[in-house]
Amino acid sequence: MCDNYVPIVIIGAGPAGIAAALQLQREEIPFIILSNDVGGCVKNAFLIENLITYPLGVSGVNLSETLEKVISQHNIPIIFCQVKSIDYEDERFLIKTDEKKYTSSYLILAIGSIPSKLNISGEKIAYEDHLLNYEIKNTNIQNKTIAIIGGGDVAFDYALNLVNKNNKIFILVRSSNIKALPRLQALVRSHKLIKVITNFPVDKISVIDKSVRLWSTSSSSNEKRSINVDHIFVAIGRHPNQLLIESKIREIKDKLIFKKRLYIIGDFAHSKFRQISIAMGDGIQAAMKLSKIWVRNRQNKRENLKL
Ligand SMILES: Cc1cc2nc3c(=O)[nH]c(=O)nc-3n(C[C@H](O)[C@H](O)[C@H](O)COP(=O)(O)OP(=O)(O)OC[C@H]3O[C@@H](n4cnc5c(N)ncnc54)[C@H](O)[C@@H]3O)c2cc1C
Repeated sequence: MCDNYVPIVIIGAGPAGIAAALQLQREEIPFIILSNDVGGCVKNAFLIENLITYPLGVSGVNLSETLEKVISQHNIPIIFCQVKSIDYEDERFLIKTDEKKYTSSYLILAIGSIPSKLNISGEKIAYEDHLLNYEIKNTNIQNKTIAIIGGGDVAFDYALNLVNKNNKIFILVRSSNIKALPRLQALVRSHKLIKVITNFPVDKISVIDKSVRLWSTSSSSNEKRSINVDHIFVAIGRHPNQLLIESKIREIKDKLIFKKRLYIIGDFAHSKFRQISIAMGDGIQAAMKLSKIWVRNRQNKRENLKL
């Protein structure tokens, strides 16, 4: 067995992973979190208005700072690393990170979702030239002209976030169907610096010096249109994190869940219901289920010692 054995490992420090950690800490059950950041997807959000503990709403940045405080205030053990693969052998999870290997008896997977790509010509070059991003977190773009591709909540949320940094925004929507919440649409439309362009399916990106040109071809008339901007954000949806798919345990995932060894929680578990409160509730529930197992195992050990 490798040296770094911990009974319970949580992968991911977004709302789901941190809620699970806080509950385990309250119940004095040993665990560690392995994560490459704290806050996860929350950091992308402009204004979160559906958490009942924040009647006036809270920005993603502020909520993420609160999550960091939870970690420090409660001395939650967290190791910052990138988890590369997960295996399962001899009743132990084998977790490889970019630096070390860990083993555990139980695993809570709270690894969230990843943004979808357009898969069009020029996208990769623009990304590599730092002219295109999929997430707002860890970016600080100011005084630029920006195209946001997408017509859902995330695209509109990104626009409200970026317009506050004195950027001029074009939201490019593929069809005439805008899916963003009416409230987000109303907020966007109240900003002079944000323009929504519908029926603009982007099919090609060209990098020109330090700017980018987005091309669109009309399906009815074949007419080509283009728009030139300094930066692009792609917000066309998210899909579950690939870590499990690329790991060997994917084949026995259902068996491990049935055996109460593996807990899949948060956005990674519910691709259609990606919400902070659901992720947090999942975290608490997984930790409480594990706590019952922990207490039962401890009682069994005591009784065996008595015999
Ligand atoms: C723009 C935007 C606005 C939003 N607005 C709202 C809102 O108003 N209200 C609401 O309820 N929800 C909102 N959401 C959704 C909300 O952010 C998510 O539901 C929530 O963050 C999910 O939490 P999670 O812990 O499941 O996953 P995440 O927050 O995605 O956390 C996953 C964690 O896993 C880590 N991780 C992943 N892979 C690895 C790896 N291989 N190695 C190490 N660490 C890894 C990540 O770094 C991260 O810490 C919004 C999302 C976006 C993008």
